[in-house]
Amino acid sequence: MRIILFGPPGAGKGTQAKLIQKKFNIPQLSTGEMFRNAIKNQTPLGKKVKSIMDEGKLVPDDTVVDLVEEALDKPEFENGYILDGFPRTVPQAEAFDTLLKQHKKKLHSFLSLEVPEDELMRRILSRKEGRSDDTPEKVKTRLEVYNDETSPVLNYYKQKGIYKSIDGTGTIEEIFGRISAVLEK
Ligand code: ADP
Repeated sequence: MRIILFGPPGAGKGTQAKLIQKKFNIPQLSTGEMFRNAIKNQTPLGKKVKSIMDEGKLVPDDTVVDLVEEALDKPEFENGYILDGFPRTVPQAEAFDTLLKQHKKKLHSFLSLEVPEDELMRRILSRKEGRSDDTPEKVKTRLEVYNDETSPVLNYYKQKGIYKSIDGTGTIEEIFGRISAVLEK
């Protein structure tokens, strides 16, 4: 299965992606995690994206698309994957479509985790992961960027007929139960 796990910052994409990975045995690919690792390891990519991520802005589309394309070429992703944090703009979604067509692959589901904005802010500010972009000011920027640049991706996939809305409120287990039910259908 090829799954996109979509949602605003703080919606719980990373948490749920890991649970899906475990239960359904599908590997997860998180662009945010890849960037954070690159920064930690001080790679050329890390140096390029550090200040952008620290501001809560988006890494340029071509950088992200190149990274995803290269990663998905690995044999472990041959039979499916869960994407967390990608695509995050309409141009990224279009580039991803081209990539899928080239490889004659199809997407199974676009799962949209839906959480009210005040709850997102509360969740991010209460998590203690030590992320440099988890401060009130940067979360505000990230939510603005989400509304302006990322939320149009929803309509893009609604038109494709694979969009599934998931209520992202409640406990981690409750949310995962809803996701499992959709994937097991
Ligand atoms: P969150 O969803 O909580 O914002 P992520 O780990 O998905 O966390 O992303 C963190 C940061 O990484 C983003 O604010 C952005 O700077 C960068 N990033 C991750 N994925 C992408 C992407 N697909 N396009 C552009 N920037 C990205």
